[in-house]
Amino acid sequence: MVEKNTKDNRNYFHYKAKNIPFRFAVSSAKYAIQKSKYKDIEIEVLYEPKHYQNISHLMKSIKNTMLYCETNFGKYPFKTIRFAEISSFTRGFAATAYPATIYINEKQFHLNLTQGEGQDTINELAAHELSHQWWGHNAQMSPDYREGSGVLVETLEQYTQLMLYKNEYGNEKMLEMVKLYQDMFDSEKAFSGEEPLLT
Ligand SMILES: [Zn+2]
Repeated sequence: MVEKNTKDNRNYFHYKAKNIPFRFAVSSAKYAIQKSKYKDIEIEVLYEPKHYQNISHLMKSIKNTMLYCETNFGKYPFKTIRFAEISSFTRGFAATAYPATIYINEKQFHLNLTQGEGQDTINELAAHELSHQWWGHNAQMSPDYREGSGVLVETLEQYTQLMLYKNEYGNEKMLEMVKLYQDMFDSEKAFSGEEPLLT
């Protein structure tokens, strides 16, 4: 940030970036912030103060993902990683990744993980969205939109997500997840037409 000032009871911020990759993210709210570090990378989780329940679990999942991805795929390309909660008025996604910033919808953010079918959505979202910093439209690759590009943008994230789930909950639980996604694929393809998995 270059400058901040207040005028007529409004806050004004002036930012300057050396270079902006494919896209960038801005959000504004009265956030609480939890900070931590993975090696020399700053981790920040910005959240609605009442939704503190999953923060430490999210922080742990972020660090596990950083370790897995740096060990297997290479160095994280930014100095910070921010996870920010956004309003459930935002529709169309559970979470989404921008360079160095990840948004999670509040519906997912403060789920009661001890209830329901025992699926660890926080682990899945942290692993999937954070691995987009290696795979997909962020800093390290930006495939042309054409047949087969989905493998680079989503399939490798999905793989990373499953590996992190396996590390946490074992092979059997991970295979249950694969079955879940297979069922989703089979039911969705009726609407969008079958696309070959390998192109
Ligand atoms: Zn994704």
